[in-house]
Amino acid sequence: TLTVDTLTSWMNNFANKIEENAQHLSDLDTPIGDGDHGFNMSRGMKAVKEKLATKPVDVTSAFKTIAMALISTVGGASGPLYGTAFLEMAKKSTTTNDLGELLDAALAGIEKRGGAKPGDKTMVDVWAKLVPDVKNGTLTEDKIHEAVVATKDMVAKKGRASYLGERSKEHVDPGSESSGYLFEAMLETEG
Ligand code: ADP
Ligand code: MG
Ligand code: MG
Repeated sequence: TLTVDTLTSWMNNFANKIEENAQHLSDLDTPIGDGDHGFNMSRGMKAVKEKLATKPVDVTSAFKTIAMALISTVGGASGPLYGTAFLEMAKKSTTTNDLGELLDAALAGIEKRGGAKPGDKTMVDVWAKLVPDVKNGTLTEDKIHEAVVATKDMVAKKGRASYLGERSKEHVDPGSESSGYLFEAMLETEG
């Protein structure tokens, strides 16, 4: 189950992955977007790390702190979407600390906020594929990789990449890659 300590380790691990791969994430965003996804996320996760260092009193306030840091610093399309995910987990955490249920609420929030469905080549593709695996306890590194790579064949229907239509094919979606890091960090933290 989730505690302030495990949530903080998860976020610090996620922040490190984002930092290490910031250039790669922005490179993915260059041909089908505006080339800033890695920089956006890295700015946001640096803020998250700093805020969490001041030790939130409980899981709900930790989730709120993360959400606010992301909303105020990431910018772009991804900022409000990741922010919404953590805000929904903050709300849900008042009634459960089951990770699967929290992530279900986060996914519903992302879908509601951005209007994307599975197949639209957005971070929703990774979340929708992997949340059920978290709930069933069947999440693996391979499944995460598969879910991210599956966005390569998709035609974007939402976000900047959708302006390219068919030409958005053959590129991995940057927000799906960063979401993949979030799930990888979770997998490593649980163990
Ligand atoms: P921007 O496109 O504003 O520069 P980012 O580059 O930080 O923002 O984030 C782009 C990512 O956001 C995309 O790769 C995609 O995964 C995600 N995204 C964009 N629009 C949506 C949406 N409507 N629903 C879900 N995810 C979206
Ligand atoms: Mg961008
Ligand atoms: Mg941008």
